[in-house]
Amino acid sequence: MDARRAVVIGAGIGGLAAALRLAADGRAVTVVERAAGPGGKMRAVSVGDSRFDAGPTVFTMRWVFERLFEAAGLALDDHVRLRPATTLARHAWQDGATLDLFADRQRSAEAIGAFAGAREARNYLRFCDDSAAVFRLLKDSFLCQPRPNLGRLVRAFGRAGFASVGRLQPFGTLWRALSRQFDDPRLQQLFGRYATYCGSSPFEAPATLMLVAHVEQDGVWYVEGGMHVLAGGLAALIEQQGGTLRYQSQVDEIVIERGRVAGVRLQDGEHLPADAVIMNGDCAALAAGLLGQAVRSAVAPRPRTTRSLSAVTWLLEARASGFPLLRHNVFFSSDYAREFRELFRQHRLPGEPTVYVCAQDRGDEPKTGAGDAERLFCLVNAPAVGDRGGPEKAEIEACENQTFSLLRRCGLAIERDPDRSVVTTPQDFHRLFPATGGALYGRVSHGWKASLQRPGCRTAIPGLYLAGGSVHPAPGVPMATLSGLMAAESLVADRASIRRFRRAATSGGT
Ligand SMILES: Cc1cc2nc3c(=O)[nH]c(=O)nc-3n(C[C@H](O)[C@H](O)[C@H](O)COP(=O)(O)OP(=O)(O)OC[C@H]3O[C@@H](n4cnc5c(N)ncnc54)[C@H](O)[C@@H]3O)c2cc1C
Repeated sequence: MDARRAVVIGAGIGGLAAALRLAADGRAVTVVERAAGPGGKMRAVSVGDSRFDAGPTVFTMRWVFERLFEAAGLALDDHVRLRPATTLARHAWQDGATLDLFADRQRSAEAIGAFAGAREARNYLRFCDDSAAVFRLLKDSFLCQPRPNLGRLVRAFGRAGFASVGRLQPFGTLWRALSRQFDDPRLQQLFGRYATYCGSSPFEAPATLMLVAHVEQDGVWYVEGGMHVLAGGLAALIEQQGGTLRYQSQVDEIVIERGRVAGVRLQDGEHLPADAVIMNGDCAALAAGLLGQAVRSAVAPRPRTTRSLSAVTWLLEARASGFPLLRHNVFFSSDYAREFRELFRQHRLPGEPTVYVCAQDRGDEPKTGAGDAERLFCLVNAPAVGDRGGPEKAEIEACENQTFSLLRRCGLAIERDPDRSVVTTPQDFHRLFPATGGALYGRVSHGWKASLQRPGCRTAIPGLYLAGGSVHPAPGVPMATLSGLMAAESLVADRASIRRFRRAATSGGT
């Protein structure tokens, strides 16, 4: 067996990041992916004549990708073309009100002042400071650590001064924090929506999730060609550095011999020997036994009640009119509390969902000129019940009606053509991402302890590592990338210490 061979299970962004780091380190690395191409959730889908981003659309935390490329001896700008967005998103309510948030926070404050009054503009600037403070506190002590560590977190909070941290009330819910920050319920709703970036409810997620507001404030970029281009580019770089990618290959077993990883067995029976395996698929698959009995105990099982949100998405090649869409648009439901009760308590699609619309051919300005068909990606949150036959066809159809009539009430008319649309449901997401029920963000982030319960990148099984949005530090493209980087670096560090130990043992013996 090649003692330096590693297998990465899954070509999601976390798996690609890990593989690039390992290949750049001179390791023989093979990425095994059951889909036909790289990207995982960051996948492209063809509809009509167009190629869509069917997963993530918002690119943030550029520094994570700079770090990844640097670690591989490369420069991000040489390989990925990024253009900063000046408008972060356009938000709309059913009474016709709209509010844009901008990369320039002063400009956002002015927009909020015009929308909700000068006091709310001041509240917004204070909220920006608070969310930046939370991010600064968590960045090195938590996000950039290979596993969650309460002690380190407490020390970081202590250094910052408990009085200042106490004011942020990080252990209360995000909703409570927002209710204290803002008087206008629409602003509470707008910033509460950031909890859904982790597949969670703002009414149950901790206030620390306000850091997502800072992450967006810190910069949103357009990736030229679409987000899936990033996955394709990383895959090409892995191959250039000597790595191998095998698509349409499923790992059915992680082989353990004498208590440590010895390779993987593919669905067709082929054995790939390896001394290390990085699991990038949702780690719930390990506990569910989908990768063999020997690794079942590597992570704690994830009860259904702790699953994050799934989604229903529509990819539409369609004409849009009546509303000045930008790239990123959010159309809000009239009762947010009810929406999340339905999702998390009743496990059903909301009667009136909040809708995200990504107009993938647009940028910071509304399109001018008569409406040709364009690429529209619409998303509503859904319960992760895709492994239990839910939501059923009739419920999806009812949700579709509600979704597009809410958009009409906000002024947006979309002329849909069933031949030029693709719907993806929690059942589809469950098929794509095994053992999840369609949950897209791993374990739900409800309660302040939830983030501490995500597994770190090392497991108790020597040679088995975890990477991706289902493990520490969090879901989302940059966080999954960070986790892939940390998994690869932990693997490299562990191999180096084994070599040191062996050398010491040998020289001690002679
Ligand atoms: C609709 C949608 C919208 C989103 N929007 C955003 C956004 O705007 N911004 C953002 O930052 N994040 C967003 N996210 C979240 C983000 O996409 C994910 O957190 C991130 O891409 C997850 O990456 P990952 O490394 O966990 O791998 P995943 O994308 O989960 O990929 C894992 C891969 O492992 C493969 N696999 C699993 N088991 C096996 C096996 N046994 N053998 C072989 N292969 C296997 C799967 O096929 C899959 O390709 C969105 C997600 C979705 C679905």
